[in-house]
Amino acid sequence: MAKASQAASSGRPRIDYFYDAQIGNFNYGEGHPMRPHRVRLTHQLVVNYGLYKHLNVFRPKLATRADMTAFHSDEYIRFLQEITQDNMQEALSHLERFNLGADCPVFDGLYEYCQTYTGGSISGAARINQGCSDIVLNWSGGLHHAKKGEASGFCYVNDIVLAILELLKVHVRVLYIDIDIHHGDGVEEAFYLTNRVMTLSFHQVGGAFFPGTGHTNDLGAKAGKNYSLNFPLLAGMDDAAYESIFKPVVDKVMEHFQPNAIVLCCGADSLSGDRVGCWNMSIRGHAACLEHVKSFGVPMLVLGGGGYTVRNVSRCWAYETARLTNQPISDTVPWHEYMDYYSPDYKLHVPVSNMENENTREQLEMKKQKLFEALSQLEHAPSTTMQTGQPGTRINPDALQHDSEEEEEEWDLRPHRNRRAHLAEYFDDDDAEGDLLDTDKPGREYEEPPSDDDDGL
Ligand SMILES: [Zn+2]
Repeated sequence: MAKASQAASSGRPRIDYFYDAQIGNFNYGEGHPMRPHRVRLTHQLVVNYGLYKHLNVFRPKLATRADMTAFHSDEYIRFLQEITQDNMQEALSHLERFNLGADCPVFDGLYEYCQTYTGGSISGAARINQGCSDIVLNWSGGLHHAKKGEASGFCYVNDIVLAILELLKVHVRVLYIDIDIHHGDGVEEAFYLTNRVMTLSFHQVGGAFFPGTGHTNDLGAKAGKNYSLNFPLLAGMDDAAYESIFKPVVDKVMEHFQPNAIVLCCGADSLSGDRVGCWNMSIRGHAACLEHVKSFGVPMLVLGGGGYTVRNVSRCWAYETARLTNQPISDTVPWHEYMDYYSPDYKLHVPVSNMENENTREQLEMKKQKLFEALSQLEHAPSTTMQTGQPGTRINPDALQHDSEEEEEEWDLRPHRNRRAHLAEYFDDDDAEGDLLDTDKPGREYEEPPSDDDDGL
């Protein structure tokens, strides 16, 4: 397919980077594996490696309630805005209904946290819509499990769905690729019935692994049939195995779907040594996925996601920032305030383990062929069935309009899911030696690095 606009004029992609210095101060609570502090650690590497010089750095505008209710229900968002640790005892039934609890706790500044990470993703999508940017990074985003009316898996507001809706104002087809180790269930569910968004998720399944959805037979329904693609995997995925499926599947998707914009969820819990995930990928292998997607020259919104060994999350996302900006960076972490996280050897790259890859070549090939089959069906889909939007208006795809009498019937077409606890997964507190530092240090106030164009949105 055509290599699009980005390299046409200068040969250098225009890359925006959204970061709010407050993000690292939000805290899910002691012992919770999700630590927004990892985004601050990432940012400190981006600044101290000098990568900010190659980025347009923006502080995101906070998302408003109206922004969030483009997908979420009014009452759920109102609840997130009003609930506090002080009043939660009187709201126990609502906590249950909206699935707030151990996985998704109520903490100080919860709503502002949602506004902050969501604001980055929506503003990033708007930059792409305006044609101002070829690649947008928001490492604080990527909360792919949140549902229309409930929190799930450490996620409250689904910034990805909201960013895709923003992109759909201008772009006819949007591709969503998810390389977090967990199934991108919230995004899949939102767009299960539409052919304007293709979702492609690579994730671990089996046992009690969260969230328990995302099988090869879950392919979308109605107009969206064959537009939801899932590549379920077992433990131990390594770079070579991942590359052997990721590249051919993405190539085929690009050929058949021809998206106008791409959103990536780059959860770093697929890395070797993650406190929650059980795969064995290196940072280079993870970054190779982004580089491959970038090679098509289609505008990209790059978001974070999971990732629970925080010192590796920041390593990974900083390295990926470097790869996307085409800047070589040293394997030795530059001296900076958060140096202790990278002891004892202060290297950017960390070795993988010798764990067994439970995925056999035959199984991978079989699942790949299954997805190819679904994609081959798309050729027969007449282009007249494509639901088109009008630039500048908020026209949601049919999948998100649930006002009709058919609402319940349509909802039944989505894969059945039971609420499952993310925290039920194994993670090793003893492995958090370096991570514990983040509760000890409040972190230095972020000073905006100099940039040619950092006025913000
Ligand atoms: Zn995850």
